[in-house]
Amino acid sequence: MFVDEAKIYVKAGNGGNGCMAFRREKYVPRGGPSGGDGGNGGSVYLEANPNDNTLLRYRYNREFTADRGRHGEGSNCTGHSGEDMILQVPVGTLALDDETGETIADLATAGQRVLVANGGRGGRGNQHFAKPWHQAPREHEDGFPGEERHLRLELKLLADVGLVGFPNAGKSTLISVISAARPKIANYPFTTLEPNLGVVNADGGTGKEGREIGRTFVVADLPGLIEGAHQGAGLGIRFLRHVERTRLLVHLVDTSDANADDPAHSFEVINGELAAFSESLTQKPMIVVATKLDATTDRTRLEALGDYCKEHGLEFHSISAATGDGVKDLVRSIADALDKIPKASLEQASDDERVQATVEVDGSTQRATQHAGEDRNS
Ligand code: GDP
Ligand code: MG
Repeated sequence: MFVDEAKIYVKAGNGGNGCMAFRREKYVPRGGPSGGDGGNGGSVYLEANPNDNTLLRYRYNREFTADRGRHGEGSNCTGHSGEDMILQVPVGTLALDDETGETIADLATAGQRVLVANGGRGGRGNQHFAKPWHQAPREHEDGFPGEERHLRLELKLLADVGLVGFPNAGKSTLISVISAARPKIANYPFTTLEPNLGVVNADGGTGKEGREIGRTFVVADLPGLIEGAHQGAGLGIRFLRHVERTRLLVHLVDTSDANADDPAHSFEVINGELAAFSESLTQKPMIVVATKLDATTDRTRLEALGDYCKEHGLEFHSISAATGDGVKDLVRSIADALDKIPKASLEQASDDERVQATVEVDGSTQRATQHAGEDRNS
């Protein structure tokens, strides 16, 4: 499981001060206290938004302060309350208090809204302090401070896109070029190989004040799949599960001068490996990418791969991660393709983890439990 993480600071608005005033009107002697209350400060909420799938926006903006309440005024006028601030987070986000580690909220369902910092109450005006024996009170309260908190947001992620290809095809380089953030890899039992992964911002917004983050998706390089296969290394079932849950495969083929292999052949070899791991992998939509365009003076292999893709009805791109040529276009095409493929669900993921736990406890029931898991998921 991959974990995206962000740390933010939230501060609710302070309450407005209560007012000290007396009624002053012609022919009304000794008009009595009339100081209004301060308005309440705005609170900060988190809201689960089904259209977000990463915490990327919180990498750019980290401090959020809600509006303060206005001060009370004379003639018993209460100050306006500050507006609440509602921060959108992806469904499945866990909010923790960063100082105590305590879980504040688990935003598991779309639209769920949770209070994380309560706005300060407005102070009372002097009208409240009048007593029969104390008719001209000068007391009034200041507004109360809004709560502030350091939060840690955590989101379990599934990779949307799996990068496949021979070693040296340029998978890691591509991820380093397109990713806007690197989620953590959490308790993942890879033997020696770790997937390289990144959150990609497809529409290029910077997320600075006022600019919207566009579509985001998660890419994982799947190193063990092929490299491990060649060495005959046993890969964890969870790794395979992970690959199976990606929604789209992007297949990188090195067509540069340095690589003399026949690209269509390389492509088929890798597809053969994928099929050997799981038939379901061969059903996944795939985009084919010729890499290292900058180091490609002889274009025959590039064109041969392009023709092969046309014949097989596969979307084809050529890029250079080194110069950035074609990369933006590729990223946008990936996002477009993902828009058409339904999302994998995290429930399935946690199901698999339960299956995995059984596997670890009792090796002999391994097969049976896995099949049970598969039936439930399909
Ligand atoms: P991986 O094994 O698929 O992850 O491949 P890497 O990303 O590690 O890349 C393998 C080698 O190709 C490295 O030496 C990279 O510097 C090089 N490389 C990757 N992308 C490009 C590119 O666009 N142009 C050039 N000239 N070299 C590249
Ligand atoms: Mg690599």
